[in-house]
Amino acid sequence: MEIIVANNCGLCYGVKRALRIAKETRERKKGKVFTLGDLIHNPRVVSELKSQGIEPAEKLGEIQEGTIIIRSHGVSPKNYRLLTQKKIIIIDATCPIVKKIQKLVERLAKEKSEIILVGNRKHPEIKGLIGYSQKKGIIIENEDQARKLPYKKRRAVLAQSTQDLSLFKKIVAVLIEKTKELRVYNTICLSTQTRQRSTSELASRVDTLFIVGGKNSSNTNKLFHISKSILANTHFVESAEEIEPEMLKKAKKIGISGGASTPPEAIEEVVFKIKNNFKHKTQRENVIPCQT
Ligand code: SF4
Repeated sequence: MEIIVANNCGLCYGVKRALRIAKETRERKKGKVFTLGDLIHNPRVVSELKSQGIEPAEKLGEIQEGTIIIRSHGVSPKNYRLLTQKKIIIIDATCPIVKKIQKLVERLAKEKSEIILVGNRKHPEIKGLIGYSQKKGIIIENEDQARKLPYKKRRAVLAQSTQDLSLFKKIVAVLIEKTKELRVYNTICLSTQTRQRSTSELASRVDTLFIVGGKNSSNTNKLFHISKSILANTHFVESAEEIEPEMLKKAKKIGISGGASTPPEAIEEVVFKIKNNFKHKTQRENVIPCQT
């Protein structure tokens, strides 16, 4: 059996940074420490944070005291303002790359052109970004929605930092036909692009692939769909416990990848489980470590 871990997988810079800030905040601040929503889309990490006294709050109204950490996805200017009106300490862990996208949307909104945001409308990053658009932003999730847009003289288009590059390209192709002057900003983060490329390359050279990560993680779901479109035998697991023997029937070359919110331990546990529980008699083992 050969096990290959994708070269670029697991926690991205923005999520690692937010986790570090959260832990440092917990050490320094007395009283309650909250994150606005789950700090990271991974149930296991969220429950570890809870055990350290870092609680997620779903709504702003839930927080009346203590310290609030804004996660890597950022928040809308309106929500930021609401936070400043409370008697709480704000620690902003918005990823610097997301901050740049927020500034871009803010600048484009002043230029009076329509702004198309390609992303998931329920995702916190998109909810934050649309808030910077001064009602000039339109969220588009797929090509069909782009086709329904009317013809416009001027438009700008950009993407959620974790968007699937191939979908973004398809939506841009549709918009070109519907816009006289289309300005395209590829705001997909480099680490997302590298991770997607590594996963699709891996999917084309293994016979079974496991995508490890939270089922509520948008970027991990995208990785799963990218891999599944290349390799039918792709499985999405949140943890090693979900791996069943039938998933590995006839598997000789197994690939493993994980999203921007997948901690390295979760990937290591999947490697460990496959190595120790599903030994094949004759194949060789070649485990390539994940570089995060
Ligand atoms: S995917 Fe990129 S932009 Fe988004 S949080 Fe991670 S490093 Fe930042």
